[in-house]
Amino acid sequence: MKKITVAIDGYSSCGKSTIAKSLAEKLDYIYLDTGAMYRSVTLYLLQNGIIRSNGEVIYTIKDFLDEINIEFRFNKEKKKAELFLNGACVDDEIRSMEVSNNVSQVSAIKEVRQKLVAIQKEIGINKGVVMDGRDIGTVVAPDAELKLFMTADPMIRAKRRWEELRANGKEISLEKIQKNLEERDYIDTHREESPLVRAEDAIIIDNSELNRDKQLHYILHLAQQKIFEKNNPDLVEN
Ligand code: C5P
Repeated sequence: MKKITVAIDGYSSCGKSTIAKSLAEKLDYIYLDTGAMYRSVTLYLLQNGIIRSNGEVIYTIKDFLDEINIEFRFNKEKKKAELFLNGACVDDEIRSMEVSNNVSQVSAIKEVRQKLVAIQKEIGINKGVVMDGRDIGTVVAPDAELKLFMTADPMIRAKRRWEELRANGKEISLEKIQKNLEERDYIDTHREESPLVRAEDAIIIDNSELNRDKQLHYILHLAQQKIFEKNNPDLVEN
């Protein structure tokens, strides 16, 4: 059976990763969290003093990109792909507030995007992949059969993120989270290099009032329809 590519873009903390992961599981596809890749580059730059926590850039970032090796390895026990930065698992560290506060600035750099987009395109080359990010439907996989653009009320997003961090033992004020989301959305939508925009053919999903099960049910239905169409072109009206 021919496989498709599902591209999920949208604002920060709209639940893109959760839905993308569940969808990939249901379809038995690869899940690619592109945000985690930008977070890893940011972590490397912070850990090595190339940028400071306050965003100050100490050395020219693009000069260090060749030293950064990012790979996903599947953890059979945890049944999930973990992200390795130069051989070390960084799944937890990349979710810190320090990384969140600097990642959008790093993601706006052309050379960073070129490096990561090339890896993402390579992973998606054979289809059978669900990717989430900011530029998937527009730049990484413009030929994706199913494109979704996710959004939700900013306050609801901040609360969800707050709860998620809290569940992982991280106590950060709702105010700080709100500010971080606002800043990231602003930088992501206003940067020169592949800004966050809805692809013309993307379906908008506002999940402010939608629970996860309903949302997954709906998106799975859309994906199955696209898979059917891809495998039965004769039955599809143009
Ligand atoms: O998806 P997540 O919120 O973890 O992404 C972190 C940041 O990485 C985003 O705020 C954005 O600045 C950047 N990003 C991006 N392009 C992508 C995925 C993420 O610029 N495809």
